[in-house]
Amino acid sequence: MALTACTDKNPFVQEWNTPYGTAPFSKISEADYKPAILKGIKERAAEIEAIVSNPEAPTFENTIAAFENSGQLLSKVTGVFYNISESDATPSIQALVDELTPVMTAASDEIFMNKALFERVKAVYENSADLTREQQMLTKELYEGFIQNGVGLDEAGQARFKEINSALASLSQKFGNNLLAENNAFKAETGVTVSAYPDFMTSCPDRAAREKAFKAYSSRGNNGNENDNNAIVLEIMKLRTEKANLLGYKTSASYILSDKMAGNPETVDEFLSKIMAAAMKKAKEEIYDMQKVMDEDIKAGLLPAGSKIQPWDWFYYAEKVRGRKYDLNEDLTKPYFQVDSVRKGVFYAAHKLYGINIEEAPEVEVYNPEVKAYKLTDADGSFVGIFYSDYFSRDTKRGGAWMNNFREQYIDTDGNDVRPVIVNVCNFPPATEETPSLLSIDNVQTAFHEFGHALHGFLSKCTYSGVSGTSVKRDYVEMLSQFNEHWAFQKEILSHYANDYRTGETIPDELVEKIGNALKFNQGFMTGELCAASILDMKWHELSAEELAGFTDAQSIRDFETKVCKEMGLIDEIIPRYRTTYFNHIFNSGYSAGYYSYLWSEVLDCDAFEYFKENGLFNEEIAMKFRRTFLEKGGSEEPMILFEQFRGKQPDPGALLRNRGLE
Ligand SMILES: [Zn+2]
Repeated sequence: MALTACTDKNPFVQEWNTPYGTAPFSKISEADYKPAILKGIKERAAEIEAIVSNPEAPTFENTIAAFENSGQLLSKVTGVFYNISESDATPSIQALVDELTPVMTAASDEIFMNKALFERVKAVYENSADLTREQQMLTKELYEGFIQNGVGLDEAGQARFKEINSALASLSQKFGNNLLAENNAFKAETGVTVSAYPDFMTSCPDRAAREKAFKAYSSRGNNGNENDNNAIVLEIMKLRTEKANLLGYKTSASYILSDKMAGNPETVDEFLSKIMAAAMKKAKEEIYDMQKVMDEDIKAGLLPAGSKIQPWDWFYYAEKVRGRKYDLNEDLTKPYFQVDSVRKGVFYAAHKLYGINIEEAPEVEVYNPEVKAYKLTDADGSFVGIFYSDYFSRDTKRGGAWMNNFREQYIDTDGNDVRPVIVNVCNFPPATEETPSLLSIDNVQTAFHEFGHALHGFLSKCTYSGVSGTSVKRDYVEMLSQFNEHWAFQKEILSHYANDYRTGETIPDELVEKIGNALKFNQGFMTGELCAASILDMKWHELSAEELAGFTDAQSIRDFETKVCKEMGLIDEIIPRYRTTYFNHIFNSGYSAGYYSYLWSEVLDCDAFEYFKENGLFNEEIAMKFRRTFLEKGGSEEPMILFEQFRGKQPDPGALLRNRGLE
């Protein structure tokens, strides 16, 4: 017991007398997390108990605000713990995550199934007319959170609900582990890693090798071996549907979408089918262009007569068409995108649009020598927040790129505006002996994307952390990150940052134009595979319990996929970006009935960007309107209302099609 006791010496229970109250990483050791988390859970439980046993009638302050203020110690620890566990995880940290996550989930279940607490929340919710809008939104979020987590169920129902949650957690983990094993098997078979697959398919002239790689790639998790995911998928789907049924929804999709911006599955289906139609129209033109190049290869005797474009030919011939049409070679652009220059560009765009200033903050401690700390201030000099930039891949970091808060923005009980501490984590290539870190066009977009999320967190001007910054609906959150991507390759921004690291020369106009054209290239395919995966996700979650009972084996899953792809109008040369047995987003991550969110948000960001184009790209007034309407508001208002306030109308789905060159 002595080992896990949380003493006064534990850095998490001490006040952090550091610059801007940032975490004192050098004082935190791995042994500090567990006792601090357990103490944090205990403290929160006592705080919740105090709310429940308050003899006074429930009010916003003594119930909702008190709930908001509970668990401060726990947030302080988990803010550090979960960031480090993703970006700088040793095996012992990973073991701690495995040990502590179920404990925290159970503690959270305990709260959201607490009927006495819910009765108080409900009383405030039903009498919320006089609250501020932000208070109403926070109360509603909390109220719905309780309902969605099964507070209304009887004892047997709650027990089953918890059972399902815990079964789903381990099934998801199994799905992910199987996929990891299948990815490794793919590499062993083909010599190509999963992340290098598109590059391989683009550059490999050996058609038989491409076909082999395509077939191995697209059958991951579906090989009838010990890592087969078919049975797991069916079990996950049956449990998810049972959970939805318990709460009174017919399908998992209608349960999940009930509190999202889109609201219901029908709206999403209709939205996706229009995008699909536009994408397929374009994809057919793309095939025509590629077939012409293939016909030349046939003529040259490289391929047998009558060869037609197949799914494993797409990347390869698209690249050939791209080379001819746009003549863009990334070896020419990379020297302009040295990582420090790109970060400068990211900061400059934020300065130009929103007036904020960003400077290095060497006085702030970082958790890894590769991380850099920055201080953000507003145009009037007031403090905005602290930003950590953690850009390079390393062994202790998981793949992908993300933004996260170490501390969220809110007004504390003494009336102080607590400013956020935010990190952007990416997996950019580190410097080599010959060159500094040079970014691809895709990497540059990622840097702008993640800083878009960061701005959403930094510029937040809310009172409650439950609705501040990026605490918004899942199908809205990507709007702010994707919006920021639009600035990456604007000439005014590029001229400020895209300098050749060897000569200092600014990127030539001709190259800027080529990048612009290339971004619209192959969009029939790119949009088609993304949209197809989004539809496949929806169709799985729109199945009822009776329909799912008809699925018995792997073949029934294949038949379902085939039927869904046919009905959506997907052409044979394209497959969904993810097929069922390797669709990690929806079976092992939070994106079930939610993969459409990227496209949904894209309509919003493209339409908002068109408003800038109509009024002058760097129109200060519009930029400030954008900041005030979206970036400051977090989840304190419904996103559709915010959008209409900004744009004066509902979003136009055509904006996405125009931006992708599909209309
Ligand atoms: Zn994002």
